[in-house]
Amino acid sequence: MSDTILQLKGVIKEFRKFRAVGGAEGLTFDVRRGGFLGLIGPNGAGKSTTFNLISGVLEPTMGTVTFDGTDLSSLSIAEIAGLGLGRTFQTPRAFDSLSVLDNVMVGLAHDEEGPLAALLGRWKGTERALTGKAEAALERVGLIARRHDSVSNLSGGELRMLEVARQLVREPRILLLDEPTAGVDPTLQGKLSQILSDLHAQGTTLIVVEHNLGFLMSLADSVVVLQNGGLLAQGAPDDIRRDPAVIAAYLGA
Ligand code: ADP
Ligand code: MG
Repeated sequence: MSDTILQLKGVIKEFRKFRAVGGAEGLTFDVRRGGFLGLIGPNGAGKSTTFNLISGVLEPTMGTVTFDGTDLSSLSIAEIAGLGLGRTFQTPRAFDSLSVLDNVMVGLAHDEEGPLAALLGRWKGTERALTGKAEAALERVGLIARRHDSVSNLSGGELRMLEVARQLVREPRILLLDEPTAGVDPTLQGKLSQILSDLHAQGTTLIVVEHNLGFLMSLADSVVVLQNGGLLAQGAPDDIRRDPAVIAAYLGA
C-alpha cells in the first residue's frame, strides 16, 4: 500500500476566466496515509474550492485528484464518499425539519441504501443498530442531551459539531473539515481537538482548513499554505510558522 492516500497533480479550477485554484502551474501536493494535514491561507486563497475539487462537488478544469490510486475525475460526490471520504462544509448544512438525532441517522441511511431510503422509511430493519451508532457519535461531540431537539434550536457552533457527528458515524478513511472551530465555544473546541487527535491516533487521515492556527498547529503534522490558488509553502508546522513568505502572506505584505 502506498504511503500516499491522496494526490493532487497540476490541479486547476477556473470560474469563467478567474483561476481560483492552481496558480501559475497547477496545484500539486500529496497527503500521507494517516497524516494530519493543515490547509491554511488568507481568505480567498482557494481552500474551500480545493475541498470541493477533492470531494467531487467541483471538477478540475485541468489536472487530477487521485484517492488511493483511483482517479476521481469521473466519479460523483456519492461515489467518492463511498470510497471512504468524509467532509464538512464551511457553512454547516443540516435538514432543518429533522431532529438532531435524525440528522445523524440520515447520513448513515444515505450510505447504506441511498438518500431516499431514509425518507421513505425503507431501512427500519437496521434502524435500531444505527440509532446506537448515531447516539454514540452525538455523545462524542457533546450533543447527546440535544438529540430530540430540532436542529433549528442549535447554535452555529453546535451545528458544526453536528456535522462532525454525521461524518464520524460513517467512519471515513479520510476526513476533510472546513473551518471546524469557527463559531464553536472553547469547551466544544476542546472536545473537537480530542476527537481529531483520537481519529489521528486510530489512523484516519485528516485535512483541516483553519484560521485558528493555535488549534491547528498543535494537531497537524504537516501544513500546506495556499495563496491566490497556488502553493505558497508546505512543511512541518514549526517550519511553516517561521517561514517569511507565510508570515508576509498573512500580514498582507
Ligand atoms: P478560501 O476557502 O480559501 O477562503 P475559496 O476557495 O472559497 O477560498 O475561494 C477562492 C476564490 O474563488 C475566491 O476568490 C472566491 O471568490 C472564488 N470562488 C469560489 N467559488 C466560486 C464560484 N462558484 N464562482 C466564482 N468564483 C468562486
Ligand atoms: Mg473557505
